[in-house]
Amino acid sequence: LPVLAIVGRPNVGKSALVNRILGRRAAVVQDTPGVTRDRVTYRGEWEGRAFTLVDTGGWEPDASGLDAAVAAQAEVAVDLADAVLFVVDAVVGATSTDEQVVRMLRGSGKPVRLVANKVDGERQEAYTGELWGLGLGEPWPVSALHGRGVADLLDEVMRVLPKESAVAKPELGGPRRVALLGRPNVGKSSLLNKAAGEERVVVSDTAGTTRDPVDEQIEIKGRTWRFVDTAGIRRRTHLSQGADFYASLRTQAALERAEVAVVLFDVTEPISEADIRIVDMVLESGRALVLAFNKWDLLDDERRRYLEREIEQDLAHVAWAPRVNLSARTGRHLERLVPALEAALDGWDTRIPTGRFNAFLAELTAAHPHPVRGGKQPRILFGTQAGSRPPTFVLFTTGFLDPQYRRFVQRRLRDLYGFVGTPIVVNMRVRE
Ligand code: GDP
Repeated sequence: LPVLAIVGRPNVGKSALVNRILGRRAAVVQDTPGVTRDRVTYRGEWEGRAFTLVDTGGWEPDASGLDAAVAAQAEVAVDLADAVLFVVDAVVGATSTDEQVVRMLRGSGKPVRLVANKVDGERQEAYTGELWGLGLGEPWPVSALHGRGVADLLDEVMRVLPKESAVAKPELGGPRRVALLGRPNVGKSSLLNKAAGEERVVVSDTAGTTRDPVDEQIEIKGRTWRFVDTAGIRRRTHLSQGADFYASLRTQAALERAEVAVVLFDVTEPISEADIRIVDMVLESGRALVLAFNKWDLLDDERRRYLEREIEQDLAHVAWAPRVNLSARTGRHLERLVPALEAALDGWDTRIPTGRFNAFLAELTAAHPHPVRGGKQPRILFGTQAGSRPPTFVLFTTGFLDPQYRRFVQRRLRDLYGFVGTPIVVNMRVRE
């Protein structure tokens, strides 16, 4: 889906605008500054066209970190979005921070529209005149809170937003898209450098004056892969506050554009909540998943035993994901990434013919009927695979199936068809 990013200083009404566009109270307007929201990408729809909405404003810095934080938002938007809405508070007017960010946005060549928010009525219209000075063209006056002007704005967005994400357009037979994810210092840059070949990558400490390539095509053992948002991997966040938020913003935005994610772990450190959160983001995105354990060259026997136990405990819910133990430093087993990625994408792409799926269901329900609940026994009448990437099934039933029974069906599906490296979705339609 094409990606629309919303950028702007704190309190200009980004979350209110997100809510208004989504038509529900999804983004939750923050009253307490500095609160981190978990979710930053949403699925929006206008006039029958779907798009991904990225709310970059989930973390609101205090005054000292303001410029850096807004610049970080703009950076993510420029790298990963197909179009940008830059929001200002019409009543407050443009500030020097706004001007700075506008320079970044204009340099990106992406369509940017200027939204003058808090124009609740005629009276505030007058304020929008001076916003022409930002050089983003005509300001679009809206009231995110009351809805005024938002329909016109969305019509305009539909005009400028490409039908398909330009940055993520899958070329038929082209390289498949990989997001390389993981906490800071797990070795993402090292792995990328090793895979790309040392001489291709110049590590530089001069901060973002020249734009790094957003994606990179990298050949590993004869096959080319497109690593998305490598700019985000190479570029260090210089934020003292909010770095976590921007890291997860990049992770989610990169996942939007990827088909398969490699989550990298550092085997010298215990698996942490932050690691698990990244894995869960992949699950939520419905992308294929590979787990890679890096710095294997530093592993001793004792740590290795702990690691196995941690994996069993903390990663049980993704036991279906292929695992690769490697070392970005020595290059050990780097080539094993390829079969792992291929297996995960195969699982992700799988389609089961309806006949075979129903034969499976018939056999399963004959051997293990749903337990009787309140005198009734829900039956599965029929099922079909509604989609792939990830494999998504629909079961037509005579009543609600227990979550437990649904999980059982999922487990059996995996036993039979493998679905290596991919989440699967089983939905239900109850026919009365
Ligand atoms: P990133 O933040 O995930 O991109 O992590 P980096 O690639 O910058 O790596 C963080 C640190 O771990 C650096 O000092 C690397 O040299 C080191 N490192 C990365 N991979 C390996 C590995 O396989 N073995 C060892 N021994 N060190 C590694």
